[in-house]
Amino acid sequence: MNDTPHHTRLPPALYVVATPIGNLGDITLRALETLKQADRVAAEDTRVSGQLLAHFGIHKSLASIREHNEREAADKVIAWIMAGEAVAYVSDAGTPAISDPGARLVAAVRAAGLAVVPIPGASAVVAALSAAGLAPGPWLFHGFLSPKAGAREAEIKSLASLPVALVFYEAPHRIVETVAALAALLGDRELTLARELTKKFETLHTLPLVDAVAWLTADANRVRGEFVVVVHPPAAAEAAGDPEALRVLDILAAELPPTLAAKLAAKITGRTKAELYQMTLKNL
Ligand code: SAM
Repeated sequence: MNDTPHHTRLPPALYVVATPIGNLGDITLRALETLKQADRVAAEDTRVSGQLLAHFGIHKSLASIREHNEREAADKVIAWIMAGEAVAYVSDAGTPAISDPGARLVAAVRAAGLAVVPIPGASAVVAALSAAGLAPGPWLFHGFLSPKAGAREAEIKSLASLPVALVFYEAPHRIVETVAALAALLGDRELTLARELTKKFETLHTLPLVDAVAWLTADANRVRGEFVVVVHPPAAAEAAGDPEALRVLDILAAELPPTLAAKLAAKITGRTKAELYQMTLKNL
């Protein structure tokens, strides 16, 4: 039960609490306060989260909620909240329900008409995107691709024509084959590999996707650790996010045939003729 009785009690709800993805300094004040005050803390792995809580001087017995028992565990959590408890949920690292258990629990608690409160914090996808240097514009978070070659290929193909950045999670033992599959199916795009974010060996490296396997395999250290893989948008989509290129192209395309408009716009803006030509076709 609440071990800080002098604090205002947390209202009954499920609190979805983000924890660090490496650097413990990334825990938020609100996460600590919520974990301290919660009547119960449930965790993906009670050993992992027990150590994290102990590091911050929080000593509580933890309930286990893993992917395989999430549905049944949700019934218990619902009963606890209905009895007036504040229940916090943490996954091993980062934000629960983002390529982690928690989504089914959240859905069940909401379906029962009970409150779910996000306590935001670290998440590898957001950390990677904040430093990848993408042009402003939409992106799609896919999480882990299938480990099976056929299914993985189908997943990548279903994403290939989208004019957005694509973001994946990957483990070290599969990074090379995943990047090889992305290069084979997505071809001429830029890639940012964000490795070991917030940790000692953090690296962010941007290079053409087609060169990435050679770069990764050139040094064993480059394939160690955890990865966020960011495939930049197709060039035409990046140009579409460039207001100056759009303005120039609009003026020229109103007076000239598409090929000539694209050629002149490329000279004026420094973008490629091919990407500008694609844009004129889209606007026809
Ligand atoms: N819930 C977490 C989040 O909010 O980011 C993700 C958990 S998922 C099981 C683990 C994957 O996230 C790793 O395989 C890796 O792709 C990515 N990841 C987690 N921590 C990372 C880090 N420090 N640097 C790079 N990628 C990381």
